Amino acid sequence: MPTVLALCAHPDDAEFRCGGTLTLLARAGWAVHIATLSAGDCGSAELGPNAIAMIRRREAEAAAARLGGTYHCLGGLDLQVYDNDVMRAAAVAVLRTVRPDCVITHYTIDYMPDHEVAGAVTRMATFTASIPNYVVGPSAALPPTPGVPVLYYFGPLGGTDYFGNPVHPHFSVDVTGVQEEKAALLACHASQRDWLRVQHGMDQYIASMQAWDAEAGLHAGVPYAEGFFCHKGHSYPQTPLIQDALAALVR
Ligand SMILES: [Zn+2]
Repeated sequence: MPTVLALCAHPDDAEFRCGGTLTLLARAGWAVHIATLSAGDCGSAELGPNAIAMIRRREAEAAAARLGGTYHCLGGLDLQVYDNDVMRAAAVAVLRTVRPDCVITHYTIDYMPDHEVAGAVTRMATFTASIPNYVVGPSAALPPTPGVPVLYYFGPLGGTDYFGNPVHPHFSVDVTGVQEEKAALLACHASQRDWLRVQHGMDQYIASMQAWDAEAGLHAGVPYAEGFFCHKGHSYPQTPLIQDALAALVR
């Protein structure tokens, strides 16, 4: 069974940015895993960090379960995650546990620094997980992966970098047919709708996601889309796993 791992910064990032594609891959018979660097401990104006982190872990587990998948938390803290040995070893441990064929992460220029850290850590971990002599922290107890997985980045929010420059994805997936299920994945993260309403004045959590997918859809020529970039650096396989699996929906 082909396996995809979405390795992101916070609970709900994967559902927001690539939840439609994960849904389509799950329906195509793929095993789906979602991992986050933190459990989202800053995501509340009322609850303390431990209390909200516990709630958000449960929400992330529920969303992953809707995909028939599994949620993993790397144990970092919101706004205190760095591309350091601790995070790298935790990410390699998840990769050695899940052993994915392909990995999806954040585009490395993003409005939120934690997202950029997640992209950098994921890039490093995908490069490293197959190296036998990398035996750091929790990765040491696990066998190296058979090779480097295919690496994708989902597009930045709004289709621009934080200077406002447009960033055009290498390909887009038409997620029009799974908008309802994507909304159901996001609805698992009930605490975040409350938080965003207080902190960012976003009272329409799911409507915002659909508006962003519609923006991506404009460029792909479909009602709703998710855009992706392929990592083309040395040693990374270029097999178009997602493009082939969802060929009829790729633009
Ligand atoms: Zn996030």
